[in-house]
Amino acid sequence: MSPVSGLHHITAISSSAQGNVDFFGKVLGLRLVKKTVNFDDPGTYHLYFADRVGSPGSVLTFFPWAGVPKGRPGTGETGLTHFAVAPGTLPFWRERLEGAGVAPVTEETVFGETRLVSADPDGFGFAIVEARGDDRAGFATHGIAANEAIKGFRGVTLTLADGAATRDLLTGLMGYEEQARDGALTRLVSPTAEAGVVDILEASDQRPASQGAGRIHHIAFRVADRAAQGAIRDTLTAEGFQVTPQIDRSYFYAIYFRSPGGVLFEIATDEPGFATDESVEHLGEALKLPAQHEKLRPVLEQKLPALSV
Ligand code: ZN
Repeated sequence: MSPVSGLHHITAISSSAQGNVDFFGKVLGLRLVKKTVNFDDPGTYHLYFADRVGSPGSVLTFFPWAGVPKGRPGTGETGLTHFAVAPGTLPFWRERLEGAGVAPVTEETVFGETRLVSADPDGFGFAIVEARGDDRAGFATHGIAANEAIKGFRGVTLTLADGAATRDLLTGLMGYEEQARDGALTRLVSPTAEAGVVDILEASDQRPASQGAGRIHHIAFRVADRAAQGAIRDTLTAEGFQVTPQIDRSYFYAIYFRSPGGVLFEIATDEPGFATDESVEHLGEALKLPAQHEKLRPVLEQKLPALSV
């Protein structure tokens, strides 16, 4: 069994909470499944978008810092998020993205898969990929039928100055397998995981990325529970990585460490999931605060902008 099962979530920085809802909710059709605050900075939202139930492998989260400047793309970061859709739906998505009028939409073929590449208003780059054999259910919303909807992540592209050590980490103790190479691009896959692709793009001619709106802060890989997380933490520590303790993030437990190419990696548990403090029907409706910040509720409810979903 592979130590990790593809991606759990992706966390990015944005310049507007409502902008996130307007783009990822209303244009891409992801569901706002949790409205909480940044546990380390409770004056700002932490918004979670996902499939209907908040399945691991579909969860895209944002720290919206109002008006924060755009970051700069470059090396040492996750440069592209890949969303999976059913084969034959790219014309629908091209029309929808072009109708939103945000950024150019380009079509390309990578490792035999056709995809559309575009970006949100902050410059968050994404690809919509026709993924064969992905039977995850889509969520019908905002004029998107279930069979057209985004199913979750397909994977990510890491842009690295030198990809070798990160490739070795992923194919070593994290259980990925190298599937293909094409020039500067190497595809690794996590066996059996739907959100299982990590493409490594070696771009030694680019400058290091800088954090800011539109950039990805970290990516989280998926394990079942705290026992599995503890086991991989022990392995990482034995290999010389500096790994945080297991941190309670209310909806999962997290450990973090810096991967060799500079990207912040997290390993997150499926337990307990997002339907623990509100039912599936009502996910994302109420402001949820962890116990340590509950005393701030009156202040936060005044300070945080109301969202029109
Ligand atoms: Zn995270």
